[in-house]
Amino acid sequence: MQSLSIVIPVYNEQENIGPLVQRTLEAISRWQGTVEIIFVDDGSSDQTLDLLKEAQANDARIRIAHFQENMGQTAAMAAGFRLARGEMVATIDADLQNDPAEIPRLVEMLKEWDVVCGVRTQRKDTWWRRFSSRVANGFRNWVTGDNIIDTGCTLKAYRRECLEGLELYNGMHRFLPTLIKMRGYRVIQVPVSHHQRLAGRT
Ligand code: UDP
Ligand code: MG
Repeated sequence: MQSLSIVIPVYNEQENIGPLVQRTLEAISRWQGTVEIIFVDDGSSDQTLDLLKEAQANDARIRIAHFQENMGQTAAMAAGFRLARGEMVATIDADLQNDPAEIPRLVEMLKEWDVVCGVRTQRKDTWWRRFSSRVANGFRNWVTGDNIIDTGCTLKAYRRECLEGLELYNGMHRFLPTLIKMRGYRVIQVPVSHHQRLAGRT
């Protein structure tokens, strides 16, 4: 039987929690193995944590980790990775810019690959954000000699062993595919959809 952990970093996403939980549960409704959804509340100051607790009361597959202060997306993801018990780990944004329905497709590819990275081919962000990302991705690849197209896309799937022992800090989630590749694992990039933020602020 296969086990899957979905890790979701969450910072002040109160308007998004309801639809996020619903669509993530829908996405895994046909999953054959065990599954857990780990929400890491990154010190939210709005109703996010209360809403997550409500969701958890309704579904035992939901787990919550919580920081007292805002520590940043990398720290939130690293905490989720440490808690994850699944053989496979998928990550996704809380604002529904990624589509939870795409998780099973990426996870399925872990039969052949160690890491599957989403690439936002039709990215729905401002011109400035897309431009900055292009420069940053280009620079990172130039330094590391890699060819990762879109490190900023949170929608990814990993065999959990790839994540073990990695020390992640400040913004380093963007280097994950390259770091994992350097350890000899097989990384593939696949197009995924991208949407406007459902609500709240980036
Ligand atoms: N996030 C987080 N801590 C932060 C900032 C963001 O956990 O300090 C979460 C956020 O709730 C979302 C994901 O990380 O689930 C991506 O953040 P955001 O949508 O702001 O980034 P963008 O999509 O604009 O790159
Ligand atoms: Mg976003």
